[in-house]
Amino acid sequence: MACPNCGYNNNPNAVFCKKCGANLFTGEMNLINRINSRINLLTVFLGLAVSIIVLFIASIFYGSLVASGTLNLIAFIALILFSMTFIGGIVTGLLGNDNSSDGLINGGVLSLILLINLGFIIGVIWLIFIAVSSYLTSALQTYTGGLISTSNIVNNTSTSNTVESFSTIIQFILILITTFLGGVFGGGLGAYIKKSFK
Ligand SMILES: [Zn+2]
Repeated sequence: MACPNCGYNNNPNAVFCKKCGANLFTGEMNLINRINSRINLLTVFLGLAVSIIVLFIASIFYGSLVASGTLNLIAFIALILFSMTFIGGIVTGLLGNDNSSDGLINGGVLSLILLINLGFIIGVIWLIFIAVSSYLTSALQTYTGGLISTSNIVNNTSTSNTVESFSTIIQFILILITTFLGGVFGGGLGAYIKKSFK
């Protein structure tokens, strides 16, 4: 196949010209290829690294609110996941993407990677929560002389009837959606901020 740029005769299957590096792909790009060409994996991973830091900070911060009874467990997990994808998405968009639509796509990729690892993330949240609540309980017990127990937390987690388990499924689906959208909007916002300051 002759290169349209320099005329060099390339291998028929070549995607780029061996001599000048021009793109030899002439066919219509399909949707997957079009999206793939806009993904910047390096900045997605930098955003993921920041979201892992957010995971630890948010788990400790919001964990103390759950242990003291001001926040329920579902809202706690939703807030941490949203904080992770939103802040991670902003970092991804800020570092890598020159236009908002690329920011939306890369933020969405970051969300998908986090959602694939949801089991691991919830495990980490749970361990930090147990550590925070047992620390707070023992601190409060020495302060109040043992009047405060963790029974409220245990009661919040039990789902005994079908109405409650149905609403738990709805809440879980809502958490997945808000977590995904956190990365999409964060990425779009980061790219928008970067573009505005250029
Ligand atoms: Zn060429």
